Amino acid sequence: MSNFIDFFAQRVDAALDLLRGLVEMESPSTDKVAVDRVVRFVADRARVAGAEVTIIPQERWGDHLLARWGAGEGGFLLLCHLDTVWPTGTLAERPWRVEGERVFGPGVYDDKASAAIILTALEGLQAMNLSPRYPVTVLFNSDEEVGSPSSRPLIEAEAARARVVFCVEPARPDGALKVWRKGTGRYTVTALGRAAHAGADHEKGINAIEELAHQVLRLQRMTDYGAGTTVNVGRIEGGTRANVVPDQASVRVDIRVKTMAEWERISAAITALQPFLPGARLMVEGGMSRPPMEASPVTLEPFRRAQDIAAGLGLTLTADGTGGASDANFTAAMGIPTLDGLGALGDGAHSVDEYVLIPSLVERSALLAALLREW
Ligand SMILES: [Zn+2]
Repeated sequence: MSNFIDFFAQRVDAALDLLRGLVEMESPSTDKVAVDRVVRFVADRARVAGAEVTIIPQERWGDHLLARWGAGEGGFLLLCHLDTVWPTGTLAERPWRVEGERVFGPGVYDDKASAAIILTALEGLQAMNLSPRYPVTVLFNSDEEVGSPSSRPLIEAEAARARVVFCVEPARPDGALKVWRKGTGRYTVTALGRAAHAGADHEKGINAIEELAHQVLRLQRMTDYGAGTTVNVGRIEGGTRANVVPDQASVRVDIRVKTMAEWERISAAITALQPFLPGARLMVEGGMSRPPMEASPVTLEPFRRAQDIAAGLGLTLTADGTGGASDANFTAAMGIPTLDGLGALGDGAHSVDEYVLIPSLVERSALLAALLREW
């Protein structure tokens, strides 16, 4: 199968053109019209590549897209998101740019290159007259960067029917696949006090900002780097003006955990927070948004299998993990074999330095085609 590499190497210009087209259609999660345009573009490409295509309309977020090659249970489920974190207009500031082996542009690495790799792999198999070993469903969703609120039920329903899930999200910079990801949680902690005139009645007030300051320190101290647990107070607001004792203040908190046990510990500690100042009250809202994907047979067995198939192409696959969550967190938590990080090599996801290594478009298209043929 090493000729897959040669085959896709001959198509690298076409893959780059496709990637450029995807990058130059900006698609921030929050701009439905923009995301829907990319969804239609990908739907058309998938149709030409032989897929049966279904668009699942959404009201608030962009539409989702199911592209199926073959029908029936026990097939492959590929996940890829078409939304990005970049607001419309970013492209004008940082246009598509090729420098040596690197290509730059908003969303190029996370996750537009993955869409290009998936389409290139399936178009390639079609051109070679080769069929995937099992039916293929690709779910292109449009709300991954905001936590997949509307696509999660769809992801879980499709995963329940699948033999294995390939989450085509960026690889680590060195190409490593992801066999674990931290889970994420979000909380809002609000302190409620009593308003008073800062001059006339200072002693009658209960300062919600003071109360919250104590809670911020408690929250930050819950971080345990050794366990891989972080608690980040990332946003704070409260009060009205300097001469009023504030009666309300709140923080937004991001939690990352490697294990469910750590999640239980942290969520219990946060919900058990007690007010520090007499008369103050606390309100705690929130919970888990994506469960942790723990390194376990659910991720390690498919990784070893992929390693063997990659070796047949002359590629060496390594495994790693990350603090960022993806839709693989959902499918792995269901116990469905899940392989994550099959996208392009590069770096700088969610940063202005984001880039993709062009040769990895060839390798990853060949790898995906081989996985679909030989699994
Ligand atoms: Zn992503």
